Amino acid sequence: MKSIFPKILKSNQIITKNIEKYNVDWMNKFHGKAQTILLPSNTTDVSNILKTCNSNKIPIHIQGGNTGLVGGAVASNAEVLISMERLNKIKNFCDKRGVIHCQSGCILQTLDEHVNEKGWLMPLDLGAKGSCQIGGNIATNAGGIRFYKYGSLHQNVLGMKVVLPNGDIYNDTQGFYKNNTGYHIKNLMIGAEGTLGVVTECQLKLQKSKPSIKGMLFSLNNLEQLSKLIELSTNTLQDFISAFELMDKKSLILHQKHFSNLPISIGNFNVLIETQFTDDDYHQSVLDKFFENCMENELIEDGTVTNNETQLNQLWSIREGITENLSKEPKSLYKFDISIKLNDIHTLQQKLKDYDTYFFGHVLDENIHLNILNDGSNDQIENIVYNLVNELNGSISAEHGIGIMKKKYLHQYDTKNQIQLLKDIKKTFDPNNILNPGLITN
Ligand SMILES: Cc1cc2nc3c(=O)[nH]c(=O)nc-3n(C[C@H](O)[C@H](O)[C@H](O)COP(=O)(O)OP(=O)(O)OC[C@H]3O[C@@H](n4cnc5c(N)ncnc54)[C@H](O)[C@@H]3O)c2cc1C
Repeated sequence: MKSIFPKILKSNQIITKNIEKYNVDWMNKFHGKAQTILLPSNTTDVSNILKTCNSNKIPIHIQGGNTGLVGGAVASNAEVLISMERLNKIKNFCDKRGVIHCQSGCILQTLDEHVNEKGWLMPLDLGAKGSCQIGGNIATNAGGIRFYKYGSLHQNVLGMKVVLPNGDIYNDTQGFYKNNTGYHIKNLMIGAEGTLGVVTECQLKLQKSKPSIKGMLFSLNNLEQLSKLIELSTNTLQDFISAFELMDKKSLILHQKHFSNLPISIGNFNVLIETQFTDDDYHQSVLDKFFENCMENELIEDGTVTNNETQLNQLWSIREGITENLSKEPKSLYKFDISIKLNDIHTLQQKLKDYDTYFFGHVLDENIHLNILNDGSNDQIENIVYNLVNELNGSISAEHGIGIMKKKYLHQYDTKNQIQLLKDIKKTFDPNNILNPGLITN
């Protein structure tokens, strides 16, 4: 195998030493067995690699920023790994249309900073933005904190270039908003976790940044207040909300353990709401009324509102720090990324009351990141949680994907008879099963 790749890549694009970082995932939970790391720098390189792997039936794995949370970024079933880190060029940014065309290894935050200079925003934002790549975001159909405002990547990816497992290049980079010309292959690639092709370039629709941005942190006592707050927010602030995040009591107590005190007294439930608008005076008047309404109807116990950038960043660091705070705990950490209806949060909390649970996440999207800390490993925890989610007719993966971690449960709860369809699609694209083997279904 070693003699194959030097024929198609330069020597500095193949590494076999000091490769430990490519073989351990962000959670330090999943370990890969890659022995050769390939560093292509363009679509042709990727095409040559896949052509070679396919004709020699060599399994190969794709890695983006390695921030995925389902074990999909490391090569569990392949000895060769493609790292996308050198496909990091911005090809074109049209600030009139608000469209960016870039290679897929660009870091999300780098892209955001680039377009910010001309008053635009990436439609996607998440805690791992400083490391995750746009190709990884597309492959996982990442949701993040702006999902409620700007929708999913299915709406925001206008075009892409993909190398198929046999090395052929699928080029859909006309970049139109509308383009109904048969099956939407592009949409099939979004969320395919790299099992159907390697995304090498993409075009994204940007959003105009708004000059007036404000943040509110509220504490609440119970789910009834949360439910009413959500109703009031969606009725009166719909055009303003750019993020609406839930953090339960224990998530914030954990924050206090690692950092300074919070600007509010902690409630059983706490929400961070960010709003954006063009006109600051009007924005402020709407929020004043909203705040008054919250107080009058006793929807919140305590709260703070800010339009100061530093303070807003501090509020965000509380929410975005939860994942990292939990990973610092010496106990075993079980992470769940589920979709359930708001009313079912209470049921889930009750049924899991004997466990050390942490509930937080994108509550307006009905997406909860339930985390459980446990002394030592416990094989039963995943079974218990996923059985409950299944009973509540929820989804076992709201936004992180299936990867290796949830494969067993995807099969277990195949109520839609979708596994066979997924397998058939995989076989059509990758009959030799060389690309990201072991993920999702196979
Ligand atoms: C602190 C933190 C916060 C997070 N917050 C969120 C959140 O709010 N919302 C959310 O959805 N996720 C979140 N995540 C999960 C993770 O960041 C996302 O899944 C992200 O989209 C993964 O991008 P990546 O570049 O790191 O991909 P990787 O982790 O490297 O890979 C993920 C999967 O995509 C495949 N892949 C990567 N690049 C390509 C490519 N170019 N072509 C084809 N396949 C490819 C890989 O093979 C793998 O299966 C968070 C993670 C962390 C650590």
